[in-house]
Amino acid sequence: MLSAIRPAPQRIREAALPGGTAVLSVVVPVYNELACLPYLQSRLIPALDALGVECELVFVNDGSSDGSGEWLDRWADSDSRLTVLHLSRNFGHQPAVAAGLEHATGQAVVVLDADLQDPPEVIASLIERWREGFDVVYAVRTRRKESLLKRAGYSAFYRLLRSNSRWDIPLDSGDFCLMDRRVVDAVNSLPETDRFIRGLRSFVGFRQSGVPYEREERRAGRTKYPFSKLVDLALNGFVNAGEFPIRWLTAAVLVFGGMSAAFCTAVGAYAVVKGEAPSGWMVVLAVVVAVSSAQFAILGLLSAYILKIFAEVKRRPSYILREVRRTPGIANSRAA
Ligand code: UDP
Ligand code: MG
Repeated sequence: MLSAIRPAPQRIREAALPGGTAVLSVVVPVYNELACLPYLQSRLIPALDALGVECELVFVNDGSSDGSGEWLDRWADSDSRLTVLHLSRNFGHQPAVAAGLEHATGQAVVVLDADLQDPPEVIASLIERWREGFDVVYAVRTRRKESLLKRAGYSAFYRLLRSNSRWDIPLDSGDFCLMDRRVVDAVNSLPETDRFIRGLRSFVGFRQSGVPYEREERRAGRTKYPFSKLVDLALNGFVNAGEFPIRWLTAAVLVFGGMSAAFCTAVGAYAVVKGEAPSGWMVVLAVVVAVSSAQFAILGLLSAYILKIFAEVKRRPSYILREVRRTPGIANSRAA
């Protein structure tokens, strides 16, 4: 599949292409962000104008029910740089980003959250690195203005993910990044339905580099990632990133198998030496409970893999489009 990716386009990192072709696409997933959108507009547009390159904005309305979609449509009516992809329902953050990546046409594509946690002003630094020749420039969080629990959870997750993966997954970098056209094509061409974008972005390789930034607090509204969804995302990333958990299972089986064998030998030896079965059934119970809980953990992890396989063999799309809204203009004149 990867061999089908077209060769590197002529380097256009120095200037805008002739004919109004967008150099930069900004993909923004949006789910019930009506409270944030005006703030986003007031910061994103000046930040993009300051770049002095041809831009397109690809907003993905992920089944919002708070009027975000209508707000974006009105914005699109007055600004031909906007494309609004309306998904047929809420598919989730990662599928929404995937939809945006598939529809972005720029030579570089930036992925940015709608809640201003990813400051639009950082795009200038991402572009600078891209112009230096890097194909993926991901923003690395130096500080998060979030609750201690969330920060600790994220920190543990990224470290676990990295240790679990055969390829290099950078620490503390989310979806906020810039990707060169070749990288976007490579990510889009990967066949899996379940798209954990930051994992795929690392998998495809190319020259990657990080730019530090301070992650701000959400500008308005509430997080769309309650704890249960975060656990889902973490498990997803973990299971998708490599086969190391399977190796852990093997290690766990060996450890618990060894413990059981040692225990049985000890019991046997006691019976032979003393001529009676050992008492202390509490000890036996403790071991039984420990081994069973390990088995449950192992079964749980295996079920996660089976669910993934099930989801993949169904070959369902990760999202379904209801409508694409854009106003014809210079930036869109060559759009597919
Ligand atoms: N989002 C989405 N679909 C969802 C959940 C979230 O498109 O089902 C968007 C959301 O509007 C935001 C981004 O994904 O632009 C990140 O979500 P959020 O800020 O709630 O996550 P957090 O920053 O709290 O992890
Ligand atoms: Mg957020």
